[in-house]
Amino acid sequence: MAAVLAKKIVKSFGGDVPAVNGISLTVPDGEFMVLLGPSGCGKTTLLRIICGLERQTSGDLLIDDRIVNEIPPRARGVAMMFQSYGLYPHYTVRNNISFPLRTQRVSRAAIGKKVEWASQLLGIGHLLDRRPRQLSGGERQRVALARALVREPTALLLDEPLSNLDAKLRTSARQEIRQFQQRVGLTTIYVTHDQVEAMGMGDRIAVIDKGKIRQVGTPVEIYNNPADLFVATFVGAPPMNIVTQNGGEYLGFRPENFLPKAMVEDESAAEFSFRVDRSEYLGSERIVYGVLEGFSSEQLITAKLPGAHVAEASIRTGEWHAFAVKRSSLRHFDSSGNRMAQH
Ligand code: ATP
Repeated sequence: MAAVLAKKIVKSFGGDVPAVNGISLTVPDGEFMVLLGPSGCGKTTLLRIICGLERQTSGDLLIDDRIVNEIPPRARGVAMMFQSYGLYPHYTVRNNISFPLRTQRVSRAAIGKKVEWASQLLGIGHLLDRRPRQLSGGERQRVALARALVREPTALLLDEPLSNLDAKLRTSARQEIRQFQQRVGLTTIYVTHDQVEAMGMGDRIAVIDKGKIRQVGTPVEIYNNPADLFVATFVGAPPMNIVTQNGGEYLGFRPENFLPKAMVEDESAAEFSFRVDRSEYLGSERIVYGVLEGFSSEQLITAKLPGAHVAEASIRTGEWHAFAVKRSSLRHFDSSGNRMAQH
C-alpha cells in the first residue's frame, strides 16, 4: 500500500480562481481520507490529478516518496472509481471486472483467479454471468469496486461512489466499504459533499472550499474544534449556531449544547433568553427554532433537545425561555471567521 502526498497543487482551467488553489495534503499508508466540500470546490479535480487523468498547473504529487507528475495513470498503481461506475452494459459482470487485466498482458488463469478473489471479497460471486442492467444499484457499485481492486492498486480513489444509491443502501454500503478497506489496509481517498458520510467513514477529513483546504482533522476534531466559520457551518446538521457579537467577532455553539437552563450543569454557563418560533419532534430529539433576545440584529438559532426529556408543553412556541450553553461548549471566531483560542 502507499502513502500519497500532494505538495502545493494548483490547477487552473483558465478562470479567475484556480479550481485547485494550492493544496498540500498527506495521506499516510492505510488511511481512509475523505475530501469534503460543496459542489464545485475542486474535490474531483484533485482526485483526477492524483490518479493522473488531469495534469496540475503547478505543484508536486508523490506516491510512496516518488514524484509521479510525469507518470501516466496506469503506471501510478492507483485505481479510481467514479460516481457513474462506468460499467460496460454489454459485458457480463465477469468481463467488466476483468477488463483492466485483459488490456494488460495477464494470463487467462491469473485473470480468472483475480476475478474470483475480488468477487468473493465483495460477495458478488453469484452474479458473474449477469449484465449490469440485471443488477441493483448496490450490486453495480460492488462490481465497480471489484474492477478497481483486481488491479491490486496501492491506493483507491473513490468519487462520490454512493450517490446513486437510496438512503438505506447508502448506510449499509458505507459500512461495507469501510470494513473492506480496513481489512485490506488500503490507502483510500474518498470524495463526498455529504458531511454525514464524511464523519461516519473518514479516519480524517480534509474540508475544502473554493480550491483550498480549510481544515484537516479527525471527525472529532473537525466537529468539536472547527478552524473557521465555513467548517463550523458545513459540518453538523443542523449546523453550528453563529451569533454575531458587537465588535464583529462571532460566538459559535452546537444546537445540542443549547439547552433549557435547568438542564445545564455549569455555574458559569452563558445564558440567553430564547423565543421559540417553531419546534419539530423527531422521535429521539426535538429540533427547536427561534431567536435570541438582546442582540441588535435578529439571531436565528436552532436547539436540539433530547426528545425523551422535553415535554412538548414545556417548550411553548411564541414564548421566551431561559436557555444556556456550557462555557466549554462555546467557540469563538474573530471578525475574519477564524477560530480564536478558548477564552
Ligand atoms: P462536484 O461535487 O459538483 O463534483 P467538485 O468539488 O468535485 O464538485 P470539480 O469537479 O473539481 O468540483 O470542479 C472544480 C471547479 O473546476 C468547478 O468550478 C468546475 O466548473 C471547474 N472545472 C472542472 N473541470 C473543468 C474543465 N475540464 N474545464 C473547465 N473548468 C473545469
